Amino acid sequence: MKKGAAAPFFVLVYGQMNTSGKDQKRMQELKYLAGYSEQVTGQVQRLIAEQRLGEVLLKRFPSAHEIKTDKALYDFTVELKNQFLRKTPPLSKVVFDSKINVIHHALGLHTFISRVQGSKLKAKNEIRIGVVFKTAPMEFLRMIVAHELAHLKEKDHNKAFYSLCEHIEPDYHQLEFDLRLYLTHLDLIGPLY
Ligand SMILES: [Zn+2]
Repeated sequence: MKKGAAAPFFVLVYGQMNTSGKDQKRMQELKYLAGYSEQVTGQVQRLIAEQRLGEVLLKRFPSAHEIKTDKALYDFTVELKNQFLRKTPPLSKVVFDSKINVIHHALGLHTFISRVQGSKLKAKNEIRIGVVFKTAPMEFLRMIVAHELAHLKEKDHNKAFYSLCEHIEPDYHQLEFDLRLYLTHLDLIGPLY
């Protein structure tokens, strides 16, 4: 966490999976927090009921980033890649994509497009970021870009993959949880910025 940043309202606790039947209704209401314990979802429900979810989020993430174009997104991504994954093949394209549903594939989408060039099959590395990240705090954009960059080396969401995510963004897991709160706000209340 950066110096001066507000302390997280929630601290993500691992292994708090709860899939019992009586949680079904709650999980439907908080679709971005499906799988979290009743303790966590209950706290979020309370914040929503007290109309305080936005306030809590704004305290931690006061403003949205300024990366609004695909060109700016590409430059931002390449800079992170050069810093942490210099040896991976170059990125051919990085874009905001309005067709990406953020729930799909754990919030992002990485594509390997195969192109036939003569007799050789060439893999083309593209990163597509859900358009919801266009208006979002810098921390969330950085987190999702870290996620997609980690896929350059690890296709699956395994332990090595998450280690890479944390290598690029040390606060990765907390930010993913905060992002879920943010998406809950967008879904149930509306835009934050
Ligand atoms: Zn992924």
